[in-house]
Amino acid sequence: MLQEFDLIERHFKPLCKDNPGMILGMGDDAALLNIPPNETLAISTDTLIAGTHFPFETSPEDIAYKALMVNASDLAAMGAAPRWFLLALTLPDSNPVWLNAFAKGLADALESVQAVLIGGDTTKGPLSITIQALGTLQGKALLRSGAKVGDLIFVTGKLGAAAFALTPEGKQNAAAQTALNRPQARWRQGKILQRFASSAIDVSDGLAQDLGHVLKASGVGAQIFLKDVPIAECLTNDICPDSLELALSGGDDYELLCTLSPENVESAKSAFLKENMALFQIGTIVEKQGLNFIKENGEHFLPDKLGYDHFRSDGK
Ligand code: ADP
Ligand code: MG
Repeated sequence: MLQEFDLIERHFKPLCKDNPGMILGMGDDAALLNIPPNETLAISTDTLIAGTHFPFETSPEDIAYKALMVNASDLAAMGAAPRWFLLALTLPDSNPVWLNAFAKGLADALESVQAVLIGGDTTKGPLSITIQALGTLQGKALLRSGAKVGDLIFVTGKLGAAAFALTPEGKQNAAAQTALNRPQARWRQGKILQRFASSAIDVSDGLAQDLGHVLKASGVGAQIFLKDVPIAECLTNDICPDSLELALSGGDDYELLCTLSPENVESAKSAFLKENMALFQIGTIVEKQGLNFIKENGEHFLPDKLGYDHFRSDGK
């Protein structure tokens, strides 16, 4: 069993690399950061509990990777670049093999989002991981409340794979398992969208629910054209008849959902193309409140799993 201080020194201190803006990292009572006056600090936190936010059998590497990425994803949705992270870790015991793997997953995720770990807290108890993410941006942040009538709605990637991973068929599907356990925070996309989009959110609870948050915050409605909703390749219809439902209401995708005013669409599209990043147009913001899914024949479609009133166009 490792002592608390050895544990921090051995597994987490190496993740606190020098970086611009960090005056002091781990080791004192608090980290010190320098935020220039022309930058805005974005801060967010999320907790992951074993059995609730990830299956008990998830590897420690994947747990750490995902915990970091879901927090980075919240920054991305604001248009902020991830810079610093804090980790409050509650562990049933201090197993060095487990900790090694956990620290490796964390290191991989930190490298992917080009950020460092600057501090945290370590306690004993049932496994729980709380991460705090700090990012910066210049100019205006992307809010949920900025969508305007006439804006077009986009997503930064294909949907449904992570939700599929939790189904009996998806448990055997490698691509689906990767989507569930190794989500990618779309922070590069967020940085571009910060310049062009009128609103954004990350898709953590499913497209329908998260778009619902944007519509509510913006006081508008939306039409989503089902034929345009990009469905993850691992979700082909023959293995998964529910693919559309999963893409619309499954969670854990961590793509960004955003709205763009028509005059910004071409600039955003070409910036995405230049970086080789995907941007799928899926619908339009309309005045009439509520979220309408439109089939190819023009009929309305109500996903089974969505019992929420505000998803019903008829208000029933
Ligand atoms: P204190 O008792 O003053 O809160 P701690 O013993 O909790 O100090 O932490 C000592 C140092 O190690 C601090 O800089 C803290 O941020 C860091 N630290 C503790 N646990 C972790 C962790 N799980 N991950 C990263 N840094 C940690
Ligand atoms: Mg402490």
